[in-house]
Amino acid sequence: VNELGRAELLAAELRAREVDLLLVSTPVNVRYLTGYTGSNGMALIFAQEGQRHRFFTDFRYATQSAEQVSEEFERSIAETDLLAAVASALGDGEGGQGRDRESVDPRPGGAVRGGEGAKRRMLGFDDGSLTVKQHTRLRELLDQSWELVGCGGLVEGLREVKDESEVSAIGAAAELADRALTEVLEAGVVGRTEREVAIELELRMRRLGAQAASFPSIVAGGEHGALPHAEPRAVEIPRGVLLTIDWGAVLDGYCSDCTRTYATGPLSNEASEVYELVLRAQERALAAVRPGISGRELDAVARTIIERAGHSEHFGHGLGHGVGMEIHEGPRLSRTAGEEPLRDGNVVTVEPGVYLPGSLGVRIEDLVLVDGERPQRLTQLSKQLTFVD
Ligand code: ZN
Ligand code: ZN
Repeated sequence: VNELGRAELLAAELRAREVDLLLVSTPVNVRYLTGYTGSNGMALIFAQEGQRHRFFTDFRYATQSAEQVSEEFERSIAETDLLAAVASALGDGEGGQGRDRESVDPRPGGAVRGGEGAKRRMLGFDDGSLTVKQHTRLRELLDQSWELVGCGGLVEGLREVKDESEVSAIGAAAELADRALTEVLEAGVVGRTEREVAIELELRMRRLGAQAASFPSIVAGGEHGALPHAEPRAVEIPRGVLLTIDWGAVLDGYCSDCTRTYATGPLSNEASEVYELVLRAQERALAAVRPGISGRELDAVARTIIERAGHSEHFGHGLGHGVGMEIHEGPRLSRTAGEEPLRDGNVVTVEPGVYLPGSLGVRIEDLVLVDGERPQRLTQLSKQLTFVD
C-alpha cells in the first residue's frame, strides 16, 4: 500500500459517511497520507473518485514538500494562512467568494441536505486536533453551504493497520533500541545514577541512527520501580534490587517501545516471585494475541493471572497500546477498551506490571505484530530474569 492507497482508502471511508471532503491538519496524519514531514501542512481529501487530492504548505516548505509529497496530491504554497488557502481552493474565502464554485463542487448535482432545501456540502475536520480558533476561522472563511462535521479518528483508524513497510520500520526501530540497551548494560549500570543510564541509553540510540527517543526513557531501581511512569533520578542504582527500564527509538518516523526489568544482584523471594508472575502473565497474553480477540479480552488474560496471585490492586494500568508513528495509538488493550477485535497488521505492546508501593516494581513489555495465528514479536531481548552489574 503506497500513499495513494491510503488516501483512496480514506476517500472510500468518506463516501460511506457521506462526507464530501476531509481536511487533514494533524501533522502525523498529514505525513501518513502525503509523505510530508514538515510542521506546517494540511491535506484535503476528496471523497469523489477521480478527484486529485490537495496539499497545502507555506513558502518555507516549498522545496521540502516538492521532494516529499506524493504525486497524487496537487501542491499549493500558501502565503501565510493555510486555512485561507484551503477555503480558496473550495471556492470560498478572501477574494474568492463563490469563485469557481461549480468547478470545485465535489458532488455536482449531489444530494440535497439541510434546511429549506439548501444544498449542503460536508467538510470533515479532525475534531480531536483542530483548535477552536481554527474552527472559527474556517467557519468565517467558508460559504454557508459548507457544513463542518467532526471526523476525528478516521486517519487514526487507518493507521492502526500497518503495511509491510511500516512493520519493517517499527521492527528496525525495535532492533536499534535493543542494541542500544545491550551496549548500556555491557558498560555497567550499578553505581551509576538512573539519570546517567537514561541519558546514555538515549545517546546510544541517537548514535545508532535513531531520530529521537520515542519518549523520555524510564530507568527506575528498587522502590522507585513501583511508579509505572518513574522519572529517572540522580540516585545511584544499588546492588540487589530490581531495575526497570522502559525505552524506545524513533527511526524513519516510526516508534518502538520495550520494557525489561533486571536484577542487580540476588533478590528477595518476594521480588523473584513477582518477577515470575509478571513474566507468566506477559507470556500468556502474548500467546493469546491473534486477529479476532478484543483489547479487553487480551487485557483479561494477563489480569486474571495477576489477580489470582493476589495482586489485583497492583496492576493499575492497561495491558498495552498500539504503536506506530506515535508511541501511543490504537488499538488499546485495557479493561475499558471496547469489543473491537484486533486485526492482522495491528502492532501492539503487551506490558503487564506489578507495582508494590514503597518496595518494588516489575514490568515486562514486548512489541508484537498481529499476524494470523502466529504473532510476531518485534522486540527480541530475553525475558528470563537476568542479573546485571
Ligand atoms: Zn514502554
Ligand atoms: Zn508501552
